[in-house]
Amino acid sequence: MSESHYQLFSCCVPVRGFARSAIYDLQRKDYWFIPNDLCDLLIKEKGLPISGINEKYKHLDIESYFNFLFENEICFPCRKEDLDRFPELDLQWNIPFEFETAIVDFNREPLVRLKRIVSELNKYAIPNIQIRFFEAVEEDQFKEVLIQFSDSNMKFLELIVLNRFSQEFIDSMLHEFPKIRLLILTNSTKRSRRDVEQATVFETTEHITSHCQCGLIQQAQFAVEMRTYCESRLHNSCLNAKVSIDVHGNIKNCPSMKESFGNICDTSIEQALQHVNFKSMWSIKKDDIEVCKDCEFRHMCSDCRAYLKKENNRCSQPEKCNYNPYIAKWKGEEGYVPIEHCGTYNNRGNYIPDLIKIKQINMDLWGG
Ligand code: SF4
Ligand code: SF4
Repeated sequence: MSESHYQLFSCCVPVRGFARSAIYDLQRKDYWFIPNDLCDLLIKEKGLPISGINEKYKHLDIESYFNFLFENEICFPCRKEDLDRFPELDLQWNIPFEFETAIVDFNREPLVRLKRIVSELNKYAIPNIQIRFFEAVEEDQFKEVLIQFSDSNMKFLELIVLNRFSQEFIDSMLHEFPKIRLLILTNSTKRSRRDVEQATVFETTEHITSHCQCGLIQQAQFAVEMRTYCESRLHNSCLNAKVSIDVHGNIKNCPSMKESFGNICDTSIEQALQHVNFKSMWSIKKDDIEVCKDCEFRHMCSDCRAYLKKENNRCSQPEKCNYNPYIAKWKGEEGYVPIEHCGTYNNRGNYIPDLIKIKQINMDLWGG
């Protein structure tokens, strides 16, 4: 082994953070935390034999590092002449659609504008539609919405709806409308998950009554996978290729955004998409976002641009994130302090980390 080189499996990609790094396994959809010095080594020393790495990094515990990498099948020993046989992944991100996801919000009167919305969306071959009902709807109204959308070109339908239906009714809808892949029943008395036919049904005790509840950054929603990784490197991981119609019929990039590009009653989606500002958020990547660009979770995390820590800075960290990547702590964990304790905001809303302060906090937290 001493004469070998190391080769990362192509699907295992190191992502450097400020306080620690992570290796994403895009194939097994998993990740491991690693120290930054190991991340730097993996990125910089490609092609150096392991014996050379041992020599160069005497101050590190290289043996245990590589034992960890080999045991977890993150990398493998490889002869120099075979290194070229393992090409890197093609990380391009392209879609054959004008846009890929539509969010449609409804309130008490879901059937108003319904036909117009469906006929507009039917002009496009979009794979995903998410429908969110923020107020209670009757069974016949709910079914009518499903009937209207079931003939559309979309493949996957996600629904968020107040839990007031019987299980029998729910199951009959899932059977009748096989495009439903995800059903989230809010305001439930318990939290549960059921797999029914092609769909997953979640019950949550949360009361979701408006678009304002969107944008929460939660570890449980992180997605380590090829698709998310490729998109997040080049585009916004929430708003790219997304069109939304809010409860009033306004066409927006996301229902929580202030800017409307016309109302569905008198504006076509095509007209909205042609507006010079419609796609302005689509290319804001996680690597452009303050604080997030220093976070090891950035390519598995969604990127909310509607709710920002500093409204006057379009590249500000998502407001509803409770992670501090400068000390690798989530709110609620021992030793957590918000990022405001690790730096300051200037009057343009730019975040300036205080490196001396961060070093001291990390020394107190983790030793060094
Ligand atoms: S930008 Fe924020 S509020 Fe809008 S859809 Fe994405 S997460 Fe939700
Ligand atoms: S700082 Fe928060 S929002 Fe930004 S990438 Fe990390 S977890 Fe996601």
